[in-house]
Formats: sequence, structure tokens, C-alpha cells
Amino acid sequence: MEETIAAIATALGEGGIGIVRISGSQSLSVLNKIFRGRDLQDRMLTYGHIYDNFTGELVDEVMAVYMKAPHSYTTEDVVEIQCHGGIVSLRKILSLTLRNGARMADPGEFTKRAFLNGRLDLSQAEAVIDLIQAKSDASFDVALDQLEGKLGNTIRSIRAELLDILVNLTVNIDYPDEDIEEMTYANLSDGLKKVRARTTQLLATADTGRIFREGLRVAIIGKPNVGKSSLLNALLQQSRAIVTEIPGTTRDTIEETVTIRNVPVILTDTAGIRDTDDRIEQIGIMRSMESFQKADLVLFVIDGSRALDDSDDEIISSLENRKAIVVLNKSDLPQKVWKEDIAKRLPQSHIIETSIKEEQGIGKIEEEIEKMVCGGQVRQKNSVMITSIRHASLLEQALGSIDDALSSTAGCQPLEFIEIDVNHAYELLGEIIGETASSDVIDEVFARFCLGK
Ligand code: GDP
Repeated sequence: MEETIAAIATALGEGGIGIVRISGSQSLSVLNKIFRGRDLQDRMLTYGHIYDNFTGELVDEVMAVYMKAPHSYTTEDVVEIQCHGGIVSLRKILSLTLRNGARMADPGEFTKRAFLNGRLDLSQAEAVIDLIQAKSDASFDVALDQLEGKLGNTIRSIRAELLDILVNLTVNIDYPDEDIEEMTYANLSDGLKKVRARTTQLLATADTGRIFREGLRVAIIGKPNVGKSSLLNALLQQSRAIVTEIPGTTRDTIEETVTIRNVPVILTDTAGIRDTDDRIEQIGIMRSMESFQKADLVLFVIDGSRALDDSDDEIISSLENRKAIVVLNKSDLPQKVWKEDIAKRLPQSHIIETSIKEEQGIGKIEEEIEKMVCGGQVRQKNSVMITSIRHASLLEQALGSIDDALSSTAGCQPLEFIEIDVNHAYELLGEIIGETASSDVIDEVFARFCLGK
């Protein structure tokens, strides 16, 4: 029999209420030992008090709820005790549940039980962590779609097509002489190509999906005093970074998360990249090189009122082969730098003239960021998106096996060969939803969870 587990389900700290959650067949009996109040009814919040049944001491005034299996988060009997949201009360109540037969839950164990008991597939369970960790509306929405089972359903439907192919293969391998639907290499190839197209289409969403989940990493670079902090502020629409006229004062990198046209963006304003003897500034410069390397997109700010110098040249040469938007700033002042000159040197970049001081051109930067991420399309509600590296890598491997099967088909190889690859693809896709995942994979997924979830 499964052990009954308990944990504090709310964040630790001071809050209006805190919740201790218990799951397993002993949940109700644990509660009954420590709760005095009205009779508990299934899924009805009930007022009462928690007493220490060893000392008789009053612990807290609470509301308790009992959710009878299978209609609960884990599909087991679940009890939740809402107490005052301070650490003392929560710890005391948790410790009482443990002394009355429950065991401390591992991180993610409630959700793991929901998965093992079949209420959630593995991709849905992973969506629970993404929901909790979401930093923007967009990443929350994508995770919610995944929790609703959209990704799982798509994977199941691709697997159903593969299963059809597998059944046909097996029948033709086992009964080659019977007059069952004859599998010609041509229609085998058609079927595989269809699956290939669907898998490719899904995998193509992974880049955008990652950005929606983690945020687009944007580094603002440029030499001192060109307007980087001003740009950051304009994008944040609030004054967090200190704007000054002394070069090199933005000594460290500043990171801010914003939502730009529904795209979650992590903005880093970097210290001016230039030679310096100042230690602290050097550290800042090292960090800015780091954020420059890690960035998905670079916003390179140039002061258009000053002629380009060696520092600009250095940045320009480092930007070849990078995704960059050049912000040609201070267009309100007499210009010494021309868009055409930059375009010649950075032909792949997008150049936007701005006067951050006069609030000109900032909308164009936002528009360009949106275009880069969504390819000009707004995310369709209901469209499935791959947000996890685990899923993307499994899809890639499955695609490899489908390609192997396709080339064996083209070469009219024995059906047994082809069956091995098709079966492999089927298994790999199954790992996404947890149907064929090993216990190591499952443990790894749930290790990312927090306590009480
Ligand atoms: P950073 O060192 O690159 O972060 O540059 P700051 O954002 O601190 O800006 C340096 C100076 O340039 C400040 O005095 C800003 O007010 C000024 N500045 C920023 N953008 C513009 C602009 O578009 N036009 C003009 N005239 N001044 C600007």
C-alpha cells in the first residue's frame, strides 16, 4: 500500500493563510486525530481547530477539506489544512501529521503520484512546474495549454499513425503469404512521410517555445554614454537603472524581465565595453561579455552624434554572424554617423534610428523584437508549442529514426529492418508523455519540483 505523505504546500514566509497537504489512504484518519470541528464532508471546507493529540494543546484555528479518491490532485484521498500563514503554525501542523502516520513528501511527490496514477501524462506534469515558474503571461499561457493536454494529445495522435504503420509491418512480416492488406513500399513511404511532416512541424515550434518559456535574452551593448540605460528605461517604462552623464557608471549588468508585445524578454544592460584599469569596471565588463555571448539578440546602441571610433569598430566586428538590432541613437542631435555606413558593415542587422530622449523609434525596436520571435505571426491560441529541451531532443531523435526508416524503405530493405526504426520512433515519442519513460527519466523530471507540489 502507498504510504501517506504530507508537506507544506504554500510558500514559506508570512502570509494570510498557509496550507498543509496530505495524500494517501490514511489522510482522513490522520486529520481525524488532530482536527476538532464539524463533521467533514467530501470536498467541503470545514471550520475547526487543530489540537496536538499527544499533549492536548491547541495548535491553530483552521479550515480543513477532505477530497475523497479519486477526485483529487493525486487521485488518492487528499486532505488540506488551511491554517494561519506563519512558519510556526505550518511546522507544528506538519509535524503533527508526521507523528500521526504520514511521511514527509519528497519534492514533486504529489504531482508524481498524479502522474503514476494516470491523472496527468508526463508532459502535463512538467507543465505544472512551468506554470509555477512562469515569469510572464505568455509563458504561463503556453504552460497552461500543455497542462490541458494539448501537447500530449498531439503526441498521441502522431503515435497512433506510427502504430498503424507498425501493425501493418508486423502483419506483413508474420504472414507474408496471406492476402492481408499488402504493404507496398510506396504506401509505407507515404505513411512515414506524413508522420515525418507532423513531427517536423512540431519540432519547428521549439525555438519560439523556449523563448516563451524562458524569455528572450536581449543584451544591450555599446560604449559608454550612447544611451543604453536610457534605452533600458524606455523599454521598462520605469527608472530602475541610474541614468548619468559620467561614462562607465553602469558598472555591472542590470537584468530586468519585461513583456514586449507579449514576448517575455530578459533585458541586460551591460557595462560599456572598453579598455579600463578599474577593477570593478573590469568585472562588469567581463559580465557584459558573458551576457553578450549568451544573448539571443543584441541591441547595439550607437551615439549618432559622435563619429564611430575604435570601440564601436570592435563591437561591430564582434557582431558579424550575430542576430542584432543596431540602435542609432540621438537622432535629435546633428548626425555624424549614417545608417548606410552601418548597413554596409553589418548587412544582416536591422538598423533603427532613435531619439530615446524624445521618445522616437522605441516602438520600432519593439516591433522588430516581436517580428524576430514570432516571424510576424502572433501566437495562435490553441497551437501546440514545444517549450522543453527534453521534448525537443526526443522529437529530434524520433525524426532521425523516421528518416532511417524512410531510407530503408526507399532501398526496399527487409521489413524487419524498417520495423526496428519505426518502433524506436514510437518509443521515443512515448517518452514525452511518459508512457515509455524509464524510472530514471521520471525521477529526473520530478527532481525539478519544489517541496509540497
Ligand atoms: P549609457 O552610458 O550608454 O547607459 O548612456 P545613458 O543612457 O546613461 O545616457 C547618456 C547620456 O545621453 C544621458 O545624458 C542621456 O540623457 C543622454 N541621451 C540618451 N539618449 C539620448 C537621445 O536620444 N538624445 C540625446 N540628445 N541625449 C540622449
